[in-house]
This record gives sequence, structure tokens and C-alpha cells, in this order.
Amino acid sequence: MLRTEVRYEVINVLDVEKIREDFPILKRKVNGRRLVYLDNAATTQKPRQVVAAIVKFYFKYNANVHRGFHTLSQEASQAYEEAHEVLAKFINAYSWEEVIDVSNTTDGLNLVAWGWGLDNLKPGDEILVTVMDHHSNMLPWRAVAEKTGAKVRYLSVTGEGTLNYEELERIISERTKVVAFPMASNVVGTINDVRRIARLAHSVGAIAVGDGAQYVPHVPTNIRELELDFIAFSGHKMLGPTGTGVLWGRKDILESMKPFRVGGDTIKDVTLDSVVWHDLPWRFVAGTPNIAGMIGLAEAAKYLMRLGMENVREHDVILVSETLKRFRDLEDEIVVLGPKDPNMRTGLVAFNVKGLHHHTVGKALDLFGIAVRTGGHCAHPLHYRLGFNGSVRASYYIYNTLEEVEVFVEALKLIISLKERLAKEPVEEVCTGT
Ligand code: PMP
Repeated sequence: MLRTEVRYEVINVLDVEKIREDFPILKRKVNGRRLVYLDNAATTQKPRQVVAAIVKFYFKYNANVHRGFHTLSQEASQAYEEAHEVLAKFINAYSWEEVIDVSNTTDGLNLVAWGWGLDNLKPGDEILVTVMDHHSNMLPWRAVAEKTGAKVRYLSVTGEGTLNYEELERIISERTKVVAFPMASNVVGTINDVRRIARLAHSVGAIAVGDGAQYVPHVPTNIRELELDFIAFSGHKMLGPTGTGVLWGRKDILESMKPFRVGGDTIKDVTLDSVVWHDLPWRFVAGTPNIAGMIGLAEAAKYLMRLGMENVREHDVILVSETLKRFRDLEDEIVVLGPKDPNMRTGLVAFNVKGLHHHTVGKALDLFGIAVRTGGHCAHPLHYRLGFNGSVRASYYIYNTLEEVEVFVEALKLIISLKERLAKEPVEEVCTGT
């Protein structure tokens, strides 16, 4: 019998019941059932505190930043600058000047690829990305390679969904100028050995660029230990508003870069034939920034810091372990993508039901009020490598419960029991990018 009521339980590391009170959307019903939101790798829900910080900005001190001496502008500038300090603390950056606000991970990765790549790459150089990459990391480098004549090479992925480190040691060379890779995968969930890759990149003089979209919201991130040169991550995947993100970069490299987008606020002075670029990070923030968004994102980072990122990580492991344990009953019916060990993963599990299209499974789960992602998750080459053209992905965050895992797996069992009928349903091919 499928239980539809979610029993809220306190999981030892996080007070989930209390956390859920901060997320009014979780009380919503979908198709007559209480919403079970398992699409957090695409975007997370937002707590009251984040929304309140944004409302407060707009209602109390909305003004443009860095452009006026009036009180509102001063207050807005101060809150906006403090947001950079909070985010620097969140990742243990050396300075808030290394924190560049971007609109999302994709934007941050493009900023590195174009901003650094155009001036530093030439024919004969190699850019190493991986088969595990999200298109947001793969395509900017491919585009820059086309412009500069550099060559893109791909590090392969094992059938278990891990990077092939031995191959990395073999193919990296003096020609390698960039190693850009996912710190954690949005499909197989694998947490990669970031420091090992960064060290290898540095051993040949290449820069190491981490796509932190699935890592920073889930794993305690200390940039001083990771040894990367750049990390990009999205605010909306860590309780923050959409349209926000961070590109963290090593100060000496950022200082050596010309801004890739230019205009207002990127400069200290302009004459008709010269320009003096602004200090960091403003030289990379062209035009009026997402002031409200950055203030909201800082509130999200504070929320996560109050919970403790170690606890956030632990909570993911508990939910993924429970999922994989419950999936054992379905061993003959489903194929799980990625490592079997929950400790190697972030808080997500992608899978396919044998004989059913991933969209059919996703649509059927929605009838139970369960929101999962289906499709290629913007990582088509990885799916093709693993022998699929898409998958169903359940991804967790701080407000998900063990009870919800149960509801989800029980619904899946029911769907599988109706497989023959469901397999006859027409499949609507929709583009499900992210
Ligand atoms: N990289 C990875 C690993 C991701 O999971 C995502 C989002 N699915 C992105 C990059 C792109 O993030 P955004 O859409 O916020 O730019």
C-alpha cells in the first residue's frame, strides 16, 4: 500500500522538520498528493529568509550600487558588497575580491573560457575536458577552441561513472593549457578527486577549472584545500534566487585578465583613447549587477552555514544510501547510473526502468506528486557513453526526508508493476536540457 502522507522525521544530522517550516512550497499539493520535491539538482526551493532578504531590499533600500552618494545607494552598495564577503566565507576564499558575481554556473564558465581562453590559447595548445561534463563546461571550451585553434581532448569515464585517472596521467602533457572538469557530476553523482586533478594540471603548467554546480551546494568547499584556479557555481542550486552565481578565481590570474564584458562599472577611468580597468571583482561585473539576487544568495549561504555544510553532506549520504538500499528490491527492473558507494556521490541518483522511457517514468511519478528530472540532463555525451539517451534523476536537499524516499520508491514499484500498460503510452519528446 502506497503511503501518500509524508511523515516528517528528524534525521540525526539536520532538524528537517524545522527546516521544512522555512519552505512554504513544500506544503503544496500536486495531483492531490503532498509535493515530494526531488529535483534539487536542477534547482532548489527557497527558504523564507532568502525571499525576505530580497523583499527587504526592494521595500526598504532599493537603489543602484556604486553610483551615488545618497543614503539608499550607500545602503544598497554596502549590502551588495557584504554579500561578496559572505560568499567568500562560504567557500573560504582568501578575499571577497576573488568572488565575481555571475548569473549562473554557465555564465561563470563562459567568463573563464572567453576571458582567459581567448588571450592565452593558440594552435597546438590542448584543452582537456571530460566525457562526464555538463554541456555548460564542454561547449564554452569547444567554442573557444574553434576561435583560437586549440584542440579539445576528452578524458574518458569508466562504466561505473568515475573519471579515468590513469588515462589522465597519460594524456596530460606540456601542450595541456586548461583542465576543466565537473567537481561532481549531475548525472552519476560522482564526487571527483578535485585536488588530484588540480595538481596534475599544475604539474604541466595548465590552469584547473572546476564546475562546482553540483559540488558547492552539497560538499563543504574550502578553496584553499582544493588547489583549483577557478570554480563556478549557481546560486539557485543552493537555496538562492535564479540569475545568481559565483565565479571564484585565483587573484593573480584574475588580475592578469582583461574583462571579457566591458562597459559601466568595469572601469576606473576612460578617455577617448585609453581605459583603466577597475579593481577586482568589479572589472568583471559589467553594468548594473543583480543586487537583489546577490543579497538573496548571501542569505542562502548564511542559511547553509548555520546548518553546517558537513551536516548537509551527511544528510545527502543518508538519503542516497536509503535510496540505493531500497532500489535493491528492484535490481532486475532498473539500472542505476554511477557508483554503488553512496560516499562517492552527492545527493542524487539517476536510473532507468528497463522497458520504459525515462519521460514515461517521470510523468507517472508526477501523478503521485513526485517531482523528478527526466532527460539528458545537459550531459548527452555521458549518457551515450553509459549506453542511454536519458535517465530519471531523483536529487535531494536539506528538506527531503527518509519518508519521502520511501514514498518515491513505493510509487516507482507501482509504476513498474504497470509497466506493460505504460510502455504503450506515446512518449512526448520534450527538450529537457538542464
Ligand atoms: N554544471 C553542472 C554539473 C550542472 O549540473 C549544471 C546545472 N544542471 C550546470 C553546470 C549549469 O548550471 P546553470 O544552469 O545554473 O548555469
